[in-house]
Formats: sequence, C-alpha cells, structure tokens
Amino acid sequence: MKLYFASGNDHKRKEMSRLLGGYELVIPKDEGIDFDPEETGTSYIENAVIKAEALYSIVHAPVLADDSGLSVDALGGGPGIHSARYGEENGKKLSDEGRYRLLLRNMEGIENRKAHFVSALCLILSPDRRYIIQETCDGSIALAPSGTSGFGYDPVFFIDEAGMISAELPGGEKDRYSHRGKAARLMKMLLDKEVGR
Ligand code: IMP
Repeated sequence: MKLYFASGNDHKRKEMSRLLGGYELVIPKDEGIDFDPEETGTSYIENAVIKAEALYSIVHAPVLADDSGLSVDALGGGPGIHSARYGEENGKKLSDEGRYRLLLRNMEGIENRKAHFVSALCLILSPDRRYIIQETCDGSIALAPSGTSGFGYDPVFFIDEAGMISAELPGGEKDRYSHRGKAARLMKMLLDKEVGR
C-alpha cells in the first residue's frame, strides 16, 4: 500500500519506513509537490493534523503525518513544538548540531535535566476517517554529546529505558524505545487491519 508521508525530513521517513515495514512511504518532494504548510498549531497533535490535512487536500489519498519534538522540564516544556526551529533568527535555521549545542548551553548549570520526546501521528484515510496517536520517550539531557546515529537532538538525549544516549544506539535499536517507535507500532496495527493483514 502506498502511503503519503507529510514530511520533508528524510531521517523521519527512514525511521517511519523501517517501523511500518511493508508500506511504500512517499514524501511530497518525491513527486515534486511543493509542501511547507505553516505549523500554526499550539500542540503536537494540532500540527500533525495541519500537515496531514494540507497534504490530503493535494493528493486525496491516505496520508500520515508526524509532528514531534523535545520537551525539557527545566525549560518549561521547551523547545517542544518549536524544536525544529530552536535558535532560528530572521528565518535563518541552525543545523541539527547547532540546535543541540544551543540546548546544552541553555542547560549549563541546571541540575534537573529531565526531558521527553513526543511524537504525534495523524493518519487520514478519507476526509472523515482519521486516527491520531501520541507517544513519548522519557529521558534526560546529557552533559555532552555522544554517538553518531539518529538525527536532531539524539546525540544529547539519554533514554532512561535504554540506559544509553539515543545516538549511541546502533541503527534501528532506537525504535524499541523511541516516541516514534511506540506511536508507529500502534499505527501499524491500524494500517494492517485496514489492508487486511
Ligand atoms: P517537526 O516535527 O518536523 O516540526 O520537527 C521535529 C524536530 O524535533 C526535528 O527537527 C528534531 O529537531 C526534533 N526531533 C523529533 N524527533 C526526534 C528524534 O527522534 N530524535 C532527535 N530529534 C528529534
């Protein structure tokens, strides 16, 4: 089954393809679709719905969207839904490394380093058939970066359940613990039911 994935992020697509297995994930740029909806929501779920609806209105076929981010207790839940734009100035985005280094600077001297990742998934099968799942992964912000796998804030996120920094986990193992892994496994059950697997 072909499933449109409302994202421009190749890392997310790679993880989601691995997690859903058996579904062909197509992102807008694969088909030359110009896709950059304004994420005006005030929650992960609102933004996932905005992305899914925006792509559905173009392709009129099943669409999956993921809105995710890192919520840090000592930063009042930030960067949260703004994780992808953390440290952005005058429209100029930082790199993944620039963002996690900024986070480490903003956490200097802070003892409470508790944080969690969030992934909100929205699946639209037809205008009135939708599923939303939101999951988390608990952990803390490391004192220094480590590891090379994954993306985004993975080099500075210590996963409680794994007892390791996310970027230190070899390819695919992150899925066992991650916010996206938990949400996508539930989503796969719904998709499998839909296609009669
Ligand atoms: P968005 O969902 O495209 O708005 O952006 C999510 C942002 O949160 C990404 O650009 C990353 O910076 C961060 N993020 C989300 N999930 C992960 C993850 O699994 N590992 C590391 N960073 C993540």
